[in-house]
Amino acid sequence: MPPSLVCGYNRAAILTEDGELLALPAEEARAALRRLKPPIVVHAPSTFRRLGLRGGAPALDLLELFAFVLPARPVAPTPRGIALALDMTPPATLDDAAALLPDIAETLLNRLAAGRTLPLNAHAAGVAARMGRAGWLWAPAVQEALGTIGEGLDGFRIWRRLPEWEEHPPPPPASSHAIAPSEARARLAGLLGAFAEQRPGQADYADAAATAFAPREARGDPHVVLAEAGTGTGKTLGYIAPASLWAERNHGTVWISTYTKLLQRQIDAELVRLHPNPVERRQRVVVRKGRENYLCLLNLEDNVGMALSGATGANLVPLGLIVRWAQATNDGDLQGGDLPGWFAELFGQSVTAALADRRGECIHGACTHYKRCFIEHTVRRARTADLVVANHALVMTQAAWQGLDDDTVPTRYVFDEGHHVFEAADSAFSAELSGVEGAELRRWLLGAEGGRSRARGLKRRIDELVVGHAKLEAPLEALLHAARALPAPGWSARLSDDAGPGLEALSAGQANPFEVFLHAARAQILARLPGDDQPGAYASLECEMFPPNPDVEAAAPALERAFSRMAEPIRTLLARLEERLDEDADTLDSATRSRIDAACRALRHRCLDRVTAWRAMLSALCSPRPEPGERPAHIYFLRADRREGIDRDVAFCRHHLDPTQAFAMTLVAPAHGLLITSATLRDAGEDAEADWEAAEARVGAAHLPSPAIRAAVGSPFDYARQTRAFVVNDVAADVAQLAPAYRALFLAAGGGGLGLFTAISRLRAVHARIAPDLEAAGIPLFAQHVDAMDNTTLIDVFRTEEESCLLGTDAMRDGVDVPGRALRLVVFERVPWPRPDILHRERRIHLSGGDVSGYDDRIARLRLRQAFGRLIRTATDRGVFVLLDRRTPTRLLSAMPAGVDVQRVGLAEAARQTRAFLAE
Ligand code: SF4
Repeated sequence: MPPSLVCGYNRAAILTEDGELLALPAEEARAALRRLKPPIVVHAPSTFRRLGLRGGAPALDLLELFAFVLPARPVAPTPRGIALALDMTPPATLDDAAALLPDIAETLLNRLAAGRTLPLNAHAAGVAARMGRAGWLWAPAVQEALGTIGEGLDGFRIWRRLPEWEEHPPPPPASSHAIAPSEARARLAGLLGAFAEQRPGQADYADAAATAFAPREARGDPHVVLAEAGTGTGKTLGYIAPASLWAERNHGTVWISTYTKLLQRQIDAELVRLHPNPVERRQRVVVRKGRENYLCLLNLEDNVGMALSGATGANLVPLGLIVRWAQATNDGDLQGGDLPGWFAELFGQSVTAALADRRGECIHGACTHYKRCFIEHTVRRARTADLVVANHALVMTQAAWQGLDDDTVPTRYVFDEGHHVFEAADSAFSAELSGVEGAELRRWLLGAEGGRSRARGLKRRIDELVVGHAKLEAPLEALLHAARALPAPGWSARLSDDAGPGLEALSAGQANPFEVFLHAARAQILARLPGDDQPGAYASLECEMFPPNPDVEAAAPALERAFSRMAEPIRTLLARLEERLDEDADTLDSATRSRIDAACRALRHRCLDRVTAWRAMLSALCSPRPEPGERPAHIYFLRADRREGIDRDVAFCRHHLDPTQAFAMTLVAPAHGLLITSATLRDAGEDAEADWEAAEARVGAAHLPSPAIRAAVGSPFDYARQTRAFVVNDVAADVAQLAPAYRALFLAAGGGGLGLFTAISRLRAVHARIAPDLEAAGIPLFAQHVDAMDNTTLIDVFRTEEESCLLGTDAMRDGVDVPGRALRLVVFERVPWPRPDILHRERRIHLSGGDVSGYDDRIARLRLRQAFGRLIRTATDRGVFVLLDRRTPTRLLSAMPAGVDVQRVGLAEAARQTRAFLAE
């Protein structure tokens, strides 16, 4: 067997080919590696990064072998994670891990050999052979295990072997039978099983949730239930019970929406209780994401073709693994589905990005893989599923567009993580006139202009629908001509050129109006920066739009005219395409009809909606200015995104002052019933009624005709017994003091610590200072923005490695579920106040009812409650919560659950008590 290598920070364990185990400092390990054959490792990028080998080195990565042998199987990317996935005894130390890696390799190869006759492995040898020629070091061992050398390219042509989906007629509308509370309880009891722990709160919660499924009594007036379920209530099964019953009884679909893809995965995992049989589950439950998340077989064919024709076979190794995965995947989801999160870390984001339909270039019925397309299949399955698990961004876009890939608009929703509705609506209903968006639209319309990209433009995509139809050709040509007003290739490099395109050139018709506008907007941002200091190399620079600089005001009308020259032919094209559907109804085959439908949807949403919003924003510049203090419907501002000291993009942004109004009107009012739920819907202030009203305002319930039904179920946990909470009062807010504080607390807990930060720079600085000491104490430290792993992978690793610690930002604070000892300490660097930007300033003025400081407090308290909620996930968990911000106002401490006594103590005392409490 080859040598094996496992790295900590600044040290490594190597098992040589002769079986000698070496524990070496990083420098000596680097020198030893030069003498050794390529070693077996787990997660090569993070292994070599820890060793200080930034450029990497040749290696046999066990994750690649795992992905080849057991495609689409989940595994945490550590020696322990792989050992657990293979039912092997996990290693306890770095040395044990190095010794175990050859055994893991052998186990995987044995499994492959045992399964060589399975259909999954019919073409495996051929795929491995090609990967071997492209430099895959596992190829000889894999071929030996398969007992054949293998040749031919058939293995890569997975698009020929996938099953075809069947078209079904659109389902009739759902009926409206109610779900009685007793029925919801009975379904819940069935889901939990006879021996489940009794949680009376969970049954009460299921009762309340059932109310959202009552028949609607008046148009525009849905049943809205706001249900707060304290951590540990078991709210997911609590709402799945009435939702699944309603779907079955009424032959309808309930859309369950949550905030992130990671949380979609968690909900999907819970649905195993409802449908333990995977075949039935696949039929009745569908996880739905945006198209850009799925494998596009046409892109795969293009990429495989390029890789096979290239001399070096670049990318053949990841493509070979993708082909293996495509045979085994449940739904072709590249992002957070059953393709492991670490895949992109191993091979780079660009590999998976090139395989997805990220730019809306799908050619639908004209695609040779249409009948096998993962996306099309998922869309169809979702139409007839009982439950669709989606995310807030997707369902809001779906409602705003009156359907995504078809005309489906749900009538019943569950919004889990309901405390994020405000942010999700803010993002979904805002508009941005930016260089990036403009350039993306140009590319969508005109395709790649020079360069190496093969992006197809609109003409190539809809050619067959248009050619020979003069009525369609003319507006298409006019649109493509007008699209040249969008930022041209190289716009970003020209953006920071102070002598860039000016108004004179614009009036002479010699400048791109979009670029002139961006240039003037950037000048306004720089002119209005506060102070004389240069902004940091990485910054988001903002200024208000009003009053606009004269150059911005002068550039706006020309850009507005350019957009109007685009809008007109789009409308004509849309109208004539729809006419064709009507006039040629007798002769059009269904594939062509669906292509025309898809082309109209894309033109409307990708192009017309965007151009219309941009025109409205530019028109606002010429409208009467808002008076100081006046409550605006929208907030307008300019933003520049600065990276490495250069402004890469400039955006003119429009946000709703209260985005929940758009949410309520677009999504909630047309629905029949909604359950909005979370562990932290309400603030824990002194006035319960005010807390409910604030919760209603944050989800838009206040904009509906009937009041929302309120329900609250307390947490079953005994927080006073299970937790301790401290505010440390002798640590200053600088990294020099924060780093030792984190180190002392993580050591006191013996690992299992989650460190939360409000700034990435401080997270990185603290990580650099404490990682070696923790490592020396046997506590691996992982970190978002430091380790070459995405958030999902980091959480999987943190959950698997019980003694490890993890540093992260917002995404780690909300909704992450790590039960048991793996998470026993949460340390917050400072109070999570809202970011003091223009949007927040306006909202705290106009949405706070005059209590601006109370508005800020409420947001900070809800964030603290979310963070505290990570700590205790089961009745047997114990945990410590620490705030390192000595300026923490006492009024925020009501965020902690009832019974938790927050002590203000010095760091040494906090560490002592943490150690003692967790050792009890
Ligand atoms: S139908 Fe569209 S998304 Fe599907 S494989 Fe073809 S081009 Fe890709």
